[in-house]
Amino acid sequence: MLPAEPGPLARFTPPLEDGVISTWLPLHAPPFDAAQGRPGSWVLDPFGFSSRLVLEAARAGYRVLVTVNNPISRFLLEMSAEPPSEVDFKAAFADLAAVKKGEERLGAHLQSLYLTACEKCAAEIYADSFLWRKGADAPYARVYTCPHCEDAGERVATPQDIEKAKQIAATDALHRSRAFERVAALEDGDRVYAEEAIEHYLPRPLYFLTTIINRLDSLNLTPERRRALNALILVACDAGNTLWDHPSERRRPKQLNVPGQFREHNLWIQLERGLSQWTETAASVVVEAWPQRLPESGGICIYEGRLKDLAEEVKKAIPIKAVIGSLPRPNQAFWTLSALWAGWLWGREAVEPYKPALRRRRYDWAWNATASNATFTHLFGLCHLGTPFLGLLSEPEPSFLTSALTAAGAAGFDLQSIALRTQHDPIQLLWTCGEHLKRQSNQAEIEDVREAIQAHLVERGEPASYLHVHAAGLVALVKAHALKQKDQEFDEALRSTHALIQTALEEDPRFVHYSNGESVDTGLWGLGEAENERAHLPRAQVPGSTTPPVPSTAFHSAQRESLSDRVEIAIVTFLQKHPHSIYLELEQDLYPRFPGLLTPSMGMFYAVLSSYAQKENGAWNLRPEDVAAARRDELVRITSLIQAIGKRLGYSTRKQEKNYLWEQNGRLERTFYILASALLGRALAETPYPPEQTIIVIPGGRAALAAYKAQRDPSLAARLKKVQVVKYRLLRTLIELPVLTRETFEEQIAGDPLEKSKSQLMMF
Ligand SMILES: [Zn+2]
Repeated sequence: MLPAEPGPLARFTPPLEDGVISTWLPLHAPPFDAAQGRPGSWVLDPFGFSSRLVLEAARAGYRVLVTVNNPISRFLLEMSAEPPSEVDFKAAFADLAAVKKGEERLGAHLQSLYLTACEKCAAEIYADSFLWRKGADAPYARVYTCPHCEDAGERVATPQDIEKAKQIAATDALHRSRAFERVAALEDGDRVYAEEAIEHYLPRPLYFLTTIINRLDSLNLTPERRRALNALILVACDAGNTLWDHPSERRRPKQLNVPGQFREHNLWIQLERGLSQWTETAASVVVEAWPQRLPESGGICIYEGRLKDLAEEVKKAIPIKAVIGSLPRPNQAFWTLSALWAGWLWGREAVEPYKPALRRRRYDWAWNATASNATFTHLFGLCHLGTPFLGLLSEPEPSFLTSALTAAGAAGFDLQSIALRTQHDPIQLLWTCGEHLKRQSNQAEIEDVREAIQAHLVERGEPASYLHVHAAGLVALVKAHALKQKDQEFDEALRSTHALIQTALEEDPRFVHYSNGESVDTGLWGLGEAENERAHLPRAQVPGSTTPPVPSTAFHSAQRESLSDRVEIAIVTFLQKHPHSIYLELEQDLYPRFPGLLTPSMGMFYAVLSSYAQKENGAWNLRPEDVAAARRDELVRITSLIQAIGKRLGYSTRKQEKNYLWEQNGRLERTFYILASALLGRALAETPYPPEQTIIVIPGGRAALAAYKAQRDPSLAARLKKVQVVKYRLLRTLIELPVLTRETFEEQIAGDPLEKSKSQLMMF
């Protein structure tokens, strides 16, 4: 499924897809609690990082207990479950705009901070944003769309723009001290950290935000409207910091680092944007604060604090049927800013329990593993044997996965399955709560890792990303209980695991690294020549020999056809049997066939679909020319074309296994392999002739898919380079030529390269 629209603070919340939890939960923990004889099974989210996940579970009829210790995450969760009405949002916004600031209204005053002159018509207009260089005392450019003359884009800053920025900076010290007083008291030891965090606000946005915040209490809003206004201000708080690089590359900041060039948003526009963002989240799910109870129809119960403080009570009172959670990854930027924002919105008391976030500077993976392990350990204490835990690991990277698996394993959770699509999709992990016994740990063996990686690459039939082979190695170590030794600290365990997997890859001639970079975790890893030769087939063909070797069938047992070829076959087979299918049905059919580390990417799905099928009213159908009967007729026609062209060139055509051979005086000249598909790997494997004599013929509609496959598999690309791939269309053109010589033939087939088709697939 497509990821849902990004909501408020989307760059700091885990990018997850809808549908995973509501599909998965009923399979592992029915919403009807059989033991209790009533609906509303309890589910626990011990991390509280993703509102989306929790909401989806609650909507599926579960009672979800969530522990959240970040006040901003808690607010996001409450807001997405029970947002104020659009009326309240609009009223709160209007009240804010109308409040007096001297002789002016606050709305007009704040908007005037962003006035600039249109370069074309000189009208005074509002800039959308200003652009800054790190360390500068004024912006170098502004971005606007002029409502009068429609001039739009990035324009050099005027002397007035620069003067305005400096004017606001002149009174900055006062606003800055007000801003950290709301977070930490004067004598507070943490004040210095609050000051440092506030450095990530320029004078204008800081003035804007403190001006609003200082009027919050005098506004006299109803609690609902105050909540709505807080939500809008929160959007402005995030839009107001310097973590918006320009041009935008680092879209999801993890550290408080000021980019070399960044964007200063017009915060008034951002408040308005917040209005539409929040009102789109319309949802109504019951939310209670612990220890209030929830109805059996489901809902969300929030405990603001850490799991360890709740564990005993939960154990006594609540039968947890399943655990869900988006696993936490270190985010110094979000955690530090959360402490600031909580202070601004709710005052110092709200920051107090969360203050350690201000102090901590470095969050490395060892810290992450140690902290996660503490949570997993408390979780283990309150779960029954076999309780399932679905963990989602978003923005996956090797260290994150190692950290999660090591932390969970050391706490007593047994890994049941792992599904990994690409490094851009969340990894799905399923654990169950293991035996409450003393767990043994074993020494990690490099051979276990190597065998697992090799097995994965054989199974895959094509090179894999480092993340995939790393995951394969990790799973082997999980099975061997060898991720962490009893006496090891997490940093040592993580380091030795990474070293082991990297050595396993680098110091083994069976593995080949396809990469421009030096680093082991870049590019792709595949099986080496020797492995491929063994796996593919003997190509001991003497040019000119008339007795070709029988194509080896050993290939099929030694190495599977490539994953992309198998996915192509599965999708086409499915569409043949189930015309008018929606994308979701296709996924549901394919995922069980390609489980775990073989889970195909959406890019692959769409590459195959766009080659074979068309979408009508949301449903996919094979194109008329790709229905099996049409393709069979086409194959017959192409075969006769090959014979006819051969005849004109003075060759006789003979069929041998799956190949058509052109011969002259018993001597082999050319071989043809005709595909209706883009199964190039199969064509190469079933053509036991010298590559320079081999021509693979594919339908034009398959060329983009073939190019996609070659581009994602450097081993296939290398093998394809040695042969010629031509489209059906070329043969049809050739037969029409009035004069056809062997020379023309050679020229024509050389001028029909596969790469030309690439542009059709740019969007994938
Ligand atoms: Zn203009």
